[in-house]
Amino acid sequence: MIVDSHCHLDRLDISQCGGSVDAALQQARSQGVSRFLCVGISLDTLPAMMDIVDRHDDVYASAGFHPLEDMSQGLDAAALKQWALDDRIVAVGETGLDYFYAKESAESQREHFITHLKVAAEVDKPVIIHSREARDDTLAAIAQYAGSAAGVLHCFTDTWPMAKQAIEEGFYISISGIVTFRNASELRDVVKKIPLDRLMVETDSPYLAPVPHRGKSNQPAYVREVAEYIAELRGISLEQLAEATTDNFQRLFFQS
Ligand SMILES: [Zn+2]
Ligand SMILES: [Zn+2]
Repeated sequence: MIVDSHCHLDRLDISQCGGSVDAALQQARSQGVSRFLCVGISLDTLPAMMDIVDRHDDVYASAGFHPLEDMSQGLDAAALKQWALDDRIVAVGETGLDYFYAKESAESQREHFITHLKVAAEVDKPVIIHSREARDDTLAAIAQYAGSAAGVLHCFTDTWPMAKQAIEEGFYISISGIVTFRNASELRDVVKKIPLDRLMVETDSPYLAPVPHRGKSNQPAYVREVAEYIAELRGISLEQLAEATTDNFQRLFFQS
């Protein structure tokens, strides 16, 4: 069994995956992908996302406000906490810092990130973190505000020292299809070093389709290719990689 630890089912290009979200999930299940974490990107779109999540026993959900969404809307911390307390919500996020695409909103991103970390600590649920070109600020915020449930750095593309420090703070590292890209040799070196009991795999679909689907819209079924690629990179079987990453997913999101 493989878990897609990070996907956006409400954003899939359904014309490229069988005509519906249900068809995309069926396709994934036929590839051995049997759990999905559908990640929230704004509180406004959560009710529609939950309509999808509620129809499937193998789909879980998180609630958060993505750093590349329109920050000028502001974040209602009480509303975020209300969602975070919902039994159907297993994590807070995605949240974080993206100085690569949106350096100009760095200040409000930091404010919102800290709000997410505080809410996650209050409700004792893990946090899903997006971090681009923001290594020091991400690690500083984690060190100061993360709760004991910790969380995951998703779609990780940064350095080994960053991964190592986050792991020491109790975090997991999730790897997307970027690891299969030709120019990702530094990331591949990092992926070989991540302890197997802290590693997860994801699609981040509909974004970042792995090789050989690059250029197409991504979908949860393709997490199998990500898992196969990492297993080969680390010299272990797909079964070993799948079992370890599934155990990690269960430990992080359901035993905190
Ligand atoms: Zn992200
Ligand atoms: Zn995402």
